[in-house]
Amino acid sequence: GFNCGIVGLPNVGKSTLFNALTATASAQAANYPFCTIEPNVGRVAVPDPRLDKLAEIGKSQKTVPTSLEFVDIAGLVRGASRGEGLGNQFLANIREVDAIIHVLRCFEDDDITHVEGGVDPVRDAEIIETELMLADLESLEKRLPALQKRAKNRDAEATAQIAVAEPLIEALKEGRPARTAIPEGQEEAVRRLQLMTSKPVLYVCNVDEDSASTGNAFSQAVKAKAEAEGAAVVVVSAAIEAEVSQLADDERREFLEGLGLKDSGLDRVIAAGYGLLGLRTYFTVGPKETRAWTITAGTKAPQAAAVIHNDFERGFIACETVAYNDYVQYGGEAGAKEAGRLRIEGRDYVVQDGDVLLFRFNV
Ligand code: GDP
Repeated sequence: GFNCGIVGLPNVGKSTLFNALTATASAQAANYPFCTIEPNVGRVAVPDPRLDKLAEIGKSQKTVPTSLEFVDIAGLVRGASRGEGLGNQFLANIREVDAIIHVLRCFEDDDITHVEGGVDPVRDAEIIETELMLADLESLEKRLPALQKRAKNRDAEATAQIAVAEPLIEALKEGRPARTAIPEGQEEAVRRLQLMTSKPVLYVCNVDEDSASTGNAFSQAVKAKAEAEGAAVVVVSAAIEAEVSQLADDERREFLEGLGLKDSGLDRVIAAGYGLLGLRTYFTVGPKETRAWTITAGTKAPQAAAVIHNDFERGFIACETVAYNDYVQYGGEAGAKEAGRLRIEGRDYVVQDGDVLLFRFNV
């Protein structure tokens, strides 16, 4: 599966957000073992209103959402790249995640200590980012001499790795994260370097309860920074989300409406995390269940089938495909077929978000 690491300075609301994410009533009711896997790892259902619609049309007994993993990574402080605050251990945890959710304190509360003295989320973001950049720079520079030696001996792979690493080192030295300097077409090679600042980032602004629907001056400042970087931002109140997570589905809507909120901040964090990772959803619809499956953008049909079962890839013959909108408009598979909206696709078909698929395969 794919995962997002939750990072940030101490006392910004990371654990509150993580606990709310993994305790959500809908997650528990979802027929799936969403819950805390380890103390700091939780799997969360990805809310998707299309599931219920498809299940209704396809007369399924139940729905099974797809999921996303969240890892609560505590303990990042100024100096983490030099080992402060168990820095090395936490940096190792960050290297392993696919994307970073950076929680920023955008609420004032005199009773809750701010490790940097006062509330300033843009400064906080820069502190963490600096630590991650320093650690990335160190890890690249450590590897460089051995690579250069191999390149001298005409090792083509080492030469290629140097060509990828050099612009990254240059950027990091200038104080720019690695994600701003990924050479064209080298995304996979960069990913293998396991740099922290090459991973996509989502800023989560944790605002006070009164600013949950509007944001505040702090979250505005974060938005301006994020816009300049092309990063995504979600505004939540972790305190409200903690309350919402304890409510049943029907109570929740009322509670949120009372606060002037359309949807829960958690749903927005999950959706943004899913988007950050470039994930797509396809569906299978049957009498037993309607189910959502996760693939990355660009995945072809046989590899999409492998998400259900490895054997499906090996024995793949074809898939019957109906786009979600057609499935709804024509009242299901039979109707879509009659309207000429059911396609038979082969092994080169790139599965699209919302496709309703039925695989044909040899066993
Ligand atoms: P972490 O160290 O980043 O994991 O922070 P925690 O989630 O443990 O929160 C630190 C303290 O801030 C706790 O006492 C929380 O109850 C409190 N806190 C978290 N979010 C909010 C918020 O939105 N508003 C207020 N007033 N307090 C919050």
